Amino acid sequence: MATKKATKRAVKAPAKKAAKAAAKAPAKKAVKKAARKSSAAKRKVSPSSSATQSAPLAAYNAKRDFTRTREPAGKVPKTKGKALHFVIQKHAASHLHYDWRLELDGVMKSWAVPKGPSLDPSVKRLAMEVEDHPISYNTFEGTIPEGEYGGGTVMLWDRGTYEAEDGGGAESLREGYRRGDLKFVMHGKRLCGSWALIRMKRPGRPQWLLIKHDDECADRKKDITETEVTSVVTERTMDQIATGRRVWHSNRS
Ligand code: MN
Repeated sequence: MATKKATKRAVKAPAKKAAKAAAKAPAKKAVKKAARKSSAAKRKVSPSSSATQSAPLAAYNAKRDFTRTREPAGKVPKTKGKALHFVIQKHAASHLHYDWRLELDGVMKSWAVPKGPSLDPSVKRLAMEVEDHPISYNTFEGTIPEGEYGGGTVMLWDRGTYEAEDGGGAESLREGYRRGDLKFVMHGKRLCGSWALIRMKRPGRPQWLLIKHDDECADRKKDITETEVTSVVTERTMDQIATGRRVWHSNRS
């Protein structure tokens, strides 16, 4: 017993010393670690750990009350070996943004892009990584009740398929996502050509930059978020979606 206690103390003591030292002169690493810990605790599951440490879409499901929102519950369908889909949803929540979602490994990898996509290769748009969404979210257009997570209006702004730029398929996309250097080609109704998502080295919630590569789909003059203001599926404006019935639209019938 005595030896156990002694061992405990011996283990505890250096930790206390380290904590005191950290409090006196907070090492950058320690502060970063603490910040990560506390923010992860607040969100319960951090976006970066969702793939490895918990069930797929656990973070998505934890944030939503499916008795109150008409968004789909998060489930991972069996893979069918078909083309990978993407969807971009214009979302007027507390702040307007565009949700950029890329299908990978049975979920939609998701980023909130406050200013939306730019076709100008010299423009880098901030893209904040958010929790993975279910593939069934790709047909969601309508309203999320006020007071619920993401409350506001959601428009299907663009959709289609996408692929790895180097032709390496899902494996290449998975590796690009892991490295924070994702290069892909969009085949949408509004967006096309080569794009990149580059992760910035910053602590906390992962922040990426969305960049259009220079190709025939690039355009330095056209502001596509200004010219395209209706649903790519129902042709409704945000106001029409907000005031209309909550309709479930699907093009996969
Ligand atoms: Mn959103």
